[in-house]
Amino acid sequence: MLYCIDVKTSQVHVLGCPEITRKGKKKNENIIFLERFNNPNDAVIDSKLKGYSEANGCIHCCPSAHTE
Ligand SMILES: [Zn+2]
Repeated sequence: MLYCIDVKTSQVHVLGCPEITRKGKKKNENIIFLERFNNPNDAVIDSKLKGYSEANGCIHCCPSAHTE
């Protein structure tokens, strides 16, 4: 799966997650593309390594990587 992070909310999403384009926006300019990972936990870890220390999995597309 390809992952991306919303730098405004620090949520990691699978590319194509409806949460990214919600709110009626055509394009979410806060999205930074990550890489291809086998699971969302790796994507969250990679995000943290890239400096997004608050990275968390999206509850909709990455529930296994979501923490409160
Ligand atoms: Zn999502």
